[in-house]
Order: sequence, then C-alpha cells, then structure tokens
Amino acid sequence: MAIIEVDSLTKRYPLPNKKSEAFLAVNAISLRIEEGEIYGILGPNGAGKTTTLEMLEGLTDIDSGIALIDGIDVQENPYAVKQRIGVQLQANEYFDGVSLVELLTLFAALYDRHVDPLALLDRVNLRDKANAKPTQLSGGQQQRFSIACALVNDPKVLFLDEPTTGLDPQAKHNLWALIRELNNGGMTIVLTTHNMEEAETLCNRIAIMDHGSLVAEDTPQALILKHAPEPPSAPIHGDIEDVFLALTGHGLRD
Ligand code: ATP
Repeated sequence: MAIIEVDSLTKRYPLPNKKSEAFLAVNAISLRIEEGEIYGILGPNGAGKTTTLEMLEGLTDIDSGIALIDGIDVQENPYAVKQRIGVQLQANEYFDGVSLVELLTLFAALYDRHVDPLALLDRVNLRDKANAKPTQLSGGQQQRFSIACALVNDPKVLFLDEPTTGLDPQAKHNLWALIRELNNGGMTIVLTTHNMEEAETLCNRIAIMDHGSLVAEDTPQALILKHAPEPPSAPIHGDIEDVFLALTGHGLRD
C-alpha cells in the first residue's frame, strides 16, 4: 500500500537575479512510496530535494499538484498529516540551557502527547546524555537526538534531510543501524543524501532529481544495471574508510 502518493507536485521560486520571473524548483514530480520502504532522494545541489521534502512535510506551500500521506491531503489537512510524520531537519537549533529530557518532554507536549524521554533516548543510544544540553553533544549525537525529537509523536513516516552529512564513518554506521532498526519496526523512511553508499546499501528504492525534475526512480540494483552496467575493475583491498573503521571503530553502538 502506498503511504505517500505525489502527483505533479510543483514549486516555483523567483529567479534570484530577476525577481519578476520564476523558475521551477520542483517541476511536476509524481511518485508513490510504499509503506515500510526506505526511499532515498538523490540529486546535485539545488536539484529540489529539500523543497520536495518540505512540501510533503507541510513546511513549504505547494504551488500545484497533490501530495497525500497515509491517504490525507497535505494541503487540505496539514494538522492531521503532522500527527503522522516525524521531521528531522538539516540543522536543528534548540533552546539553550534545556536538557535533552526536558526538550523531549516539551516537544511531546506540543503534540499533546506524553512520552518516556529516557526510553526515547535509549532508542537513539543517548540515555547517558539525558541531562546534557544539546550544545554539549557531538555532531553525531546531535543528529541522533534530532531523530529522537522526530519520534515523539510515534510517526508512521520519518523524513530525514541529509541525516549523515558531516558524520565520521563510525557515527554514520551508527545512524544507519538506527534507521534500519526504525524501519524494521515498520516505519517508512524518506531521506535525502549525497552519500552514494548510503543510497545503495540503505534504500529500497531511489529517486534521482535534477533541475527540479525526477529523472529516474527504481531499486539501486535496477538503476545500476540500467545506467552503469560495466563492472568495475576488481578491488584488491579495502579503502580508507575501512582503515578508519579498523583503527577507530569500537562496535556499532558505542
Ligand atoms: P542541496 O543538495 O544543496 O541541499 P536541494 O536539492 O535540496 O539542494 P533545494 O534546497 O530544494 O535543493 O533548492 C532547489 C532550488 O530552489 C535551488 O535553486 C534553491 O536556490 C531554490 N530555493 C530553495 N528555497 C528557496 C527560497 N526560499 N526562495 C527562493 N529560492 C529557493
């Protein structure tokens, strides 16, 4: 069953150097995302990935087209959609001086929900930081905390905008493990990424955007067979990422 259905979704923005004219940041894209998928959106800088996510999340107005999440029209009923989705933003800024536990309690209250903040912190492996302030967390810990914030309303769909950008290989693998765990529990995950390994190993299907349009959509394997069928020359050893992990890795959940 499709949990996200998008038909001819379009967004125009004014041209930076000619404000009276507009360009298509997202150009009539249509897609269906099945319940339980990890769905990746790839594309060069400025391709329209974040704008697409923001329209689905109800954070940016839709100029034309239709987006349904769990059968609910995003434009007509944004409040009902927000109850069903979790959103992790590219950069999170939290109130200074408030602990992780207090912030999770506050976010839950915004959704009119009661959560067990420590149980949520357990899910993202941050219980030992319960009384820390967000500014006291490392980059990877902040990313995991922003996912905990996105989970306060027990969403059916989780949107992640470049979740592993800037993370070291170990933190990146930790986050992939967390995403897989959430997905194994039945959550649909939609993410954008510039990390090709992330797209290939984590995502069930990938959409590739360029200049606002959807240029391809399929499983990673099918896309490779269709667009890059030549086998690479056989690698004779691992790469620097493997060296980094061998020397600094302490197990995925550390
Ligand atoms: P990146 O990989 O760099 O994050 P992206 O694919 O997410 O890029 P978007 O952020 O969706 O790209 O931007 C798509 C286009 O829309 C870009 O040309 C961008 O400059 C433009 N754009 C985005 N937000 C606005 C805005 N609020 N006003 C005007 N133009 C915007």
